[in-house]
Amino acid sequence: MSPCDISDKLFTIRYKCDDKSHLVIKDTQTCLNCTTKDCNYFCPSDVYEWEKILKITTVAYENCIECGTCRIACPSYNIDWVYPKGGYGMTYKFG
Ligand code: SF4
Ligand code: SF4
Repeated sequence: MSPCDISDKLFTIRYKCDDKSHLVIKDTQTCLNCTTKDCNYFCPSDVYEWEKILKITTVAYENCIECGTCRIACPSYNIDWVYPKGGYGMTYKFG
């Protein structure tokens, strides 16, 4: 078996996206005051990104692999995390 990096593995995941995000930033002011922007680094799918011009954290929820990290890793617990509603979200290639 050949070595495989994270992007290769993410490519094997399939998504069915809801039109409503299951990930919500609770308070935009908290993000504005957050000096470390940890969410930009801990998410394996790069869901969160600090938008410098708009001064908000953008949430590409369509890419979420439901690992649950952001539920506990935001230092201000500023992310409201739930699973996507039934029938939506990710499926693995091999079950
Ligand atoms: S780590 Fe939390 S508070 Fe900081 S920018 Fe991300 S969501 Fe906002
Ligand atoms: S649950 Fe995991 S993959 Fe989804 S947004 Fe949070 S850290 Fe990223």
